[in-house]
Amino acid sequence: MIKIGGKRIPMREQDAEQRKSNFFSVPHGYSEEEVITEAQRCLQCQGAPCEKHCPINMRILDMIRAIAVGDFKKAFFIAKEDNSLPAITGRVCPQESQCEGVCPFAQSGEGINIGKLEAFVADWAKEKELKKDIFIQENPERIAVIGAGPAGITCAVDLRKYGFQVTLFEALHKAGGVLQYGIPAFRLPTEIVDAEITYLDELGVDLQLNFFVGQNITFDELRRRFDAIFIGSGAGAPLFMRIEGENLKGVYSANEFLIRCNLMKSYNSAEFDTPIVCGDRVGIIGAGNVAMDAARCARRLGSEHVHILYRRTKKESPARIEEIEHALEEGIILEELVTPKRILGDENGWVSGVELLRMKLSAPDKSGRPRPVPLENSEFIMPIDTIIEALGTQPNRLFLNRAEGLDIDSWGLIKVDDDLQTSIPGVYAGGDAIRGNATVILAMGDGRKAARAIGRQMKRLSFSS
Ligand code: FAD
Ligand code: SF4
Ligand code: SF4
Repeated sequence: MIKIGGKRIPMREQDAEQRKSNFFSVPHGYSEEEVITEAQRCLQCQGAPCEKHCPINMRILDMIRAIAVGDFKKAFFIAKEDNSLPAITGRVCPQESQCEGVCPFAQSGEGINIGKLEAFVADWAKEKELKKDIFIQENPERIAVIGAGPAGITCAVDLRKYGFQVTLFEALHKAGGVLQYGIPAFRLPTEIVDAEITYLDELGVDLQLNFFVGQNITFDELRRRFDAIFIGSGAGAPLFMRIEGENLKGVYSANEFLIRCNLMKSYNSAEFDTPIVCGDRVGIIGAGNVAMDAARCARRLGSEHVHILYRRTKKESPARIEEIEHALEEGIILEELVTPKRILGDENGWVSGVELLRMKLSAPDKSGRPRPVPLENSEFIMPIDTIIEALGTQPNRLFLNRAEGLDIDSWGLIKVDDDLQTSIPGVYAGGDAIRGNATVILAMGDGRKAARAIGRQMKRLSFSS
């Protein structure tokens, strides 16, 4: 029987006590019965507001309609039409501020669980080894894509579907960008990322790993060899607080910590040699998604006392609500209204503590959030043996400085026009390289937009495409 509305079907999850010491996926995913019941709650709203609030305007309504009648194959093909990585976006998109946020049931906290429906159909198709035959009308133009993160992958996939000869250059030994090295396996299992990446191979994208553009090949040489270029090189250079003690042993950027843990698998010490120092008392500076990921990794690596040190309060945290709740359930402590003044070290140069300053909130700043201001003479010392700084990142200038003629702003972000074309004709850019720290789906949206612009430039797509 079809039931519209009603309560959201709860997601079964690994118990917090159990999961805090493993890297397996936290949610178990819906069963076939559960996913159908959840899809049947959808009102099939006229004008589908959810689709308008998906940055790639996925055909959510049609996908849900197919799920509601148990036609998972059709649902998968619909999802895959617009979205090259549905198993990933279904898991990591900030749905509450995008597609699900405008669902009529969202106000009561019962919005249709679009992300989990999307992830279900993608996982179902993977299990069934379902493939969609794609006819590619080959075109001779050669396009280079720099960086195999969500922006580069989406751009490469779309360009290949337009028939271009696409080479995707990736500096690391695995494709995926942040999906591979940043987001931990308990949120986004590695095999899901790997499976989505095989799609590149199936389409005939020439993926060149361990290939750093600017080092293995100059940017000028790349321009000579290719008809157009897309830069999706991300924003991988960490920002630091620039306070006393940051050079002590035991201080990490969240990037380094997560790369060691996730990409280089330091949590699996039986099979991998990657060293990681993670003491019993860990302090994470910042409270965004990256901070939550670092904190939850530290917990799983065995740290008993993990403190998130945040200068505002939980309410102002930029992290997804689900991630904060999961972190708190796992025993992570959120220290609100504090900011580090200096990091203290022992006689051997290792971190031994952090001096914190208490804060209070005052009138909102430019971001619209209350501004934290220090309380005079409120300093206190917290014993800590590992510090992880999760303060944001900016593009790595190693490559940008070698790309002559490429205009960047004072943050190192590549300047682009409305078509995502840079200051160099025929060179496009998108994702974190133009936005700073954004989201997977926004990066994918850029990849798609740039691919269309390149298609038009090569006169293989009409200007209305
Ligand atoms: P990236 O994913 O950074 O990929 C860029 C790639 O380019 C990298 O693989 C890099 O090695 C490669 N590269 C760089 N320079 C070169 C070069 N010169 N030659 C060759 N290759 C090069 N977003 C969400 O939506 N949801 C989340 O839950 C979420 N969690 C996050 C958690 C963490 C820990 C982090 C760090 C980010 C998170 N984000 C999340 C943000 C999101 O992952 C990014 O916005 C997104 O990955 C940006 O995609 P991108 O393709 O622009 O760059
Ligand atoms: Fe929602 Fe993201 Fe899927 Fe779009 S891609 S429908 S925003 S989960
Ligand atoms: Fe269904 Fe919600 Fe989208 Fe309406 S907004 S079509 S109820 S998912």
